[in-house]
Order: sequence, then structure tokens, then C-alpha cells
Amino acid sequence: MTKIYLNKGKETPLLRRHPWVFSGAIKSTEGKPVDGDTVSVYSADKKFLGIGHYQVENSIRVRIISFEEVEIDETFWFNKINTAYTFRGIIELTDNKNTNVYRLFFGEADGLPGLIIDFYDGHLVVQCHTIGMHRNIEHIAHALKKVYGSKLKTIYDKSKETLPKHLTENLHNGFMIGDTGNTVVKENKHLFYIDWERGQKTGFFVDQRENRALLAHYSKNKTVLNTFCYTGGFSVYACAAGAKEVHSVDVSKPAMEITDKNIELNKLTNHKSFCADTFDFLEDKKDVYDIIVLDPPAFAKSRDVKHNAFKGYKRLNEMALRLIKSNGLIFTFSCSGVVDKALFYNTVAAAVFESGRKVKVLHYLSQPADHPITPNFAEGEYLKGLVLYVE
Ligand code: SAH
Repeated sequence: MTKIYLNKGKETPLLRRHPWVFSGAIKSTEGKPVDGDTVSVYSADKKFLGIGHYQVENSIRVRIISFEEVEIDETFWFNKINTAYTFRGIIELTDNKNTNVYRLFFGEADGLPGLIIDFYDGHLVVQCHTIGMHRNIEHIAHALKKVYGSKLKTIYDKSKETLPKHLTENLHNGFMIGDTGNTVVKENKHLFYIDWERGQKTGFFVDQRENRALLAHYSKNKTVLNTFCYTGGFSVYACAAGAKEVHSVDVSKPAMEITDKNIELNKLTNHKSFCADTFDFLEDKKDVYDIIVLDPPAFAKSRDVKHNAFKGYKRLNEMALRLIKSNGLIFTFSCSGVVDKALFYNTVAAAVFESGRKVKVLHYLSQPADHPITPNFAEGEYLKGLVLYVE
């Protein structure tokens, strides 16, 4: 195994179990590792720090998969997957009669940077974000089979879009077990059609389960607008909770088709779909809606575009604030990892001041426990939301 030595003092984050080694922290490398190799990392005074995957891409050179000096063998992969599964059992997701969709594995927070696995009623969709992780996908699949046994119906590898482009020329998404590309799942008793072959990400936004339930709590007899609705998660909850009318907007036609399908699956009425750009749609909608949901895609994916993200979130929130009815509620979100809680709050506050509306902050929202937040890896806290009451 290639050995990597860090500059003096650069071991501190690893001793705190932060799993990223930046290129600038590296003093020397014994051997010539290539993308995806498993390497071991040592401090300047040659103390073992961890084992990780090497990648020559932006500035994160090694992602640590073990802080212990262990064999990276079948048992290693099984233990990681099984620990994640046991935890989802503790938080009552693995055997829940109302919900059979959850995130089984959430990268760094579950101890394997670059590995995402979502569970859709026995169908598992795997997304690797590093080539080192993808090289081990057979081990991961083997561990998944052992953990789920006869409950496992499908393993679909959907890593083509999430791996660095220059490394994926010969890679294709595909089935490792089974051949089903879609299914219907239950989330808090609501039915959702999931198409992991054609859909965005792994097919569904698993991270909004609890925030959708909170929207339901406020939706009875209300006129609700769900922007950036994707497959209509928030819309289904609002309709089912007795909203007077729900409007869903997304720029993607396939997403709107699935939204319609989900409304139908749940036998709901009082719903209208709009395939449109949210900013255009909002233009002329003053005093129509009691509740507006804003869940845009990550406006900032890297630190360089943080300022543009600020402008995007501010403009969107300001538009919604200006047009919402009196005594209305805005559910506003950001899933951009580089926009932290404070920046998001300040951005929304700036929109509030600009709009001239009087606002109370009712709730601070986040990601659910199957997307765990760990103190050693602050970057994992990506979903932020606020519920605003607008006088
Ligand atoms: N709220 C959704 C997830 C939103 S993901 C849920 O609970 O499932 C972001 C969505 O925004 C994607 O479906 C994408 O197609 C859509 N989108 C991106 N830009 C848009 C725009 N300018 N107007 C409307 N929709 C947009």
C-alpha cells in the first residue's frame, strides 16, 4: 500500500476524525498512486493516521475510509454496511409499516466518504462519488446481500453521473442484482412512484420526509404553492392534509409527469401541475397563496460561486415574500453544502428586509436522522430550511 506522509501539524483534523486530506497537507508520497488506489496516511513523525482512497482531482487528495489500521477485506465492508443498517433500525426506518424508503448510507457520516445508498422497499440504488469507492462496488454489493438477505430485490449502480467525468468513459449505470427500474414506495403512508433509472439523483429526495410532514401540519384549507417540486413530495402531503388547492411547479417535464402520477396514486384532487421556471411562474401571482414552498436545487456547488448563490436565494425568497397572502407561511430551503446555516439565515433575512414584510421565524429545519450530522464532519450538514410566518 502506498504511504503518504503529511506536513508537520497537518495531522490534527485526522486525529479529530475529519476524513479529508487536502493536497497542501501532503509532504511526501512513497510510490506512485493512481486514481482510486487505497493508500495509508501517516503524520510527519510517521504515526499511522488512516487508510483512504486516493484521487487526483480538485484539492481533496485522500478520503479516509478507516482510522484504524485494519485489513480492507470482506469483513471491513460488511461491518460498515451493517453498522449503517443497525443505526437505521434504531431510528425505526428498517422495519416501519408507514415508511419503506430511507437513506441506508450517507457517505462520510457513515464512515465511507463517497458512498450513498438509498433503500426503496427492497431496491437499493448505489451512487459512488469517488473512483476508489466504485472500485469496491462488488464488495459493497456482497455486504448488502448479507445484510438484507431475502429482503433484497435490486441493486442498481448509478455512479456514472456522480464520479469525476474523466474517469467514467467506460463506465455505465446498471443492475448488479435484479432488473427492475422503478417501484412504488410509502413515505409516512403516502405513495410515491420512484424511477431510479431515469430520475434525478437516486430517483427521489429522501431527505425531505420530516419537512413534508411539517407542511402537512399547516396545510388544511390552505392554498399551497410547491415550487421546484420534482416528483411532488410536498404537494402530496399538502393535498392529503386537506389543502384547498395545491399548485406544483417544476421546469422538468418528466418530473411533472411523475408528480401527476403521485397525485393519482394517492387518489388526491385539488391539484394542478405547471411545467415552468419558478421565477417566471411567480411573476404575476400576488395574493394567491397562503403557503409557498421554495426548495431550489443547490445554487452553489462550489465556494467560488457562493456570491451568485446568495443572489439567487435572496431573489427567490424576496419574490415569495412580496406575493404571499397576509398570515401566510413560507417553507424555504437550501441544499447547498457551501451555504452554511448562518449564511442561509442572513440571506433570507436580507430578503425579508428588502420585501418590507413583517416576518416571524417559526421553525429551523434540517435533514432527517438517516442523513446523520456528525461533529467531526461539519460539511455533511447540507440541508437547511426556515418556516416564515408573514403578517
Ligand atoms: N422539493 C423536491 C426536490 C427539489 S429538487 C422534493 O421534495 O422532491 C430541485 C428541482 O428543481 C428539480 O426537480 C429541478 O428540475 C427543479 N428546477 C431547477 N431549476 C428550476 C427552475 N428554474 N424552475 C423550476 N424548477 C427548477
